[in-house]
Amino acid sequence: MRELKNAEIIAVGSELLTPHRLDTNSLFLTGRLNELGIVVRAKTVVGDNRHDLAALVTSAMTRADVLLTTGGLGPTDDDLTREVIADLLGVRLVEDQDLVASIEARFRLRGVKMPTINRRQAMVPEGARVVPNHHGTAPGLILEREGRVVALLPGPPRELQPMFDVLAEEVLLPRTAGRKVRRRQVKVTGRSESQVEEVAHPIYSCLGDDTTSVQTTILASPGLIELHLEAVGTDVAAVDRLLDSGVSALAQALGDVVFSTDGRSLEKVTGDLLRARGWRVAAAESCTGGGFLARMTDVPGSSAWVSGGLVAYSNQVKVRDLDVPAALIDAQGAVSEGVAVAMAQGARRRFGTDVAVGITGIAGPDGGTPEKPVGTVVVAVATDAVTVRTFRFPGDREAIRRHSTSAALDMLRRALL
Ligand code: ATP
Repeated sequence: MRELKNAEIIAVGSELLTPHRLDTNSLFLTGRLNELGIVVRAKTVVGDNRHDLAALVTSAMTRADVLLTTGGLGPTDDDLTREVIADLLGVRLVEDQDLVASIEARFRLRGVKMPTINRRQAMVPEGARVVPNHHGTAPGLILEREGRVVALLPGPPRELQPMFDVLAEEVLLPRTAGRKVRRRQVKVTGRSESQVEEVAHPIYSCLGDDTTSVQTTILASPGLIELHLEAVGTDVAAVDRLLDSGVSALAQALGDVVFSTDGRSLEKVTGDLLRARGWRVAAAESCTGGGFLARMTDVPGSSAWVSGGLVAYSNQVKVRDLDVPAALIDAQGAVSEGVAVAMAQGARRRFGTDVAVGITGIAGPDGGTPEKPVGTVVVAVATDAVTVRTFRFPGDREAIRRHSTSAALDMLRRALL
């Protein structure tokens, strides 16, 4: 029997080629296939067009051990998947009487007579295995050709997802030779993607051994770089050792910009450090408008370490509610190290916390000057001592605000180490 190692996915539906609907089925299916040690080599989205679909299926059948299609199993003329695949595999479509009965029963349950066009959903390619649909009318269909598995699944996610369990358990799993996919993540803040890549590439390019290769993906977003390591093998302990050694090598080379190797977010890591110390935090935020505390309080249980904060957007509020000296704002400007420190100290006093954060900056698009261009952000962390840093973040307003909250979380994390 052919071992199943790789898959392709074809998402069928003209609506998926508009800006209004996104193909999410392939993301779900990719995740579940990976858990079985099956790698997705390609995926496509195609409209309800017989020739385009036939061409894609024909080409996928030359490569993939598993071909999954989603959608196009409905009762109307533009639902073509069933006919096209039966045609290509050279099998007839036969009406399945049990299916007719169960589709009729579904309609009866809703007090409606089954429309004649729904009989089409009871047409089964000869030799196909039928997977019942408990959330809709179109059943799933599984066929085999020269050891390759071809599964036709309906489009609606709530119908497709439970069907995948049946496909996985009964058809795919027995033919994966016990392979498992294992993953690790190394998360970095305060470095750009290219800086991380420069240090990490020499390490991950030689990860892996004779039997197992390690795939590495680098994912960048403002204030966060993630390195994902993935390996497939039958000896899970050996695969885990390989990945763990990769993680340690990367963590060591990258140093203290690595904040997590166990999947935790920056806000969770920082919250855990506060809890461990029994400390509480407050914040005074200007350009981030509360974004820092929004992220801190994303973590369940954060009431144990977050006291509160103030969005001090105008100078007037900075002076009136945080006791930032007006003369300091006049002398240094609202975006300055002196003001960020005064904001952090003001919040610490006002909320009576062990530590407080002050953030002030220019998120743009307006308000920049040659000395303080858009992206200039100052973050201060006040305990009994104070740390303060001025950053120049790239990107648009949203990116600058995200960079700012990440930098503030990271400075707080470092103050707690
Ligand atoms: P049914 O007859 O049960 O509707 P179908 O197989 O004909 O099943 P489609 O008509 O192609 O399914 O799609 C029905 C709906 O399912 C779409 O309007 C869309 O909301 C959702 N859907 C279809 N394909 C996808 C996809 N790839 N990702 C996410 N949602 C999808």
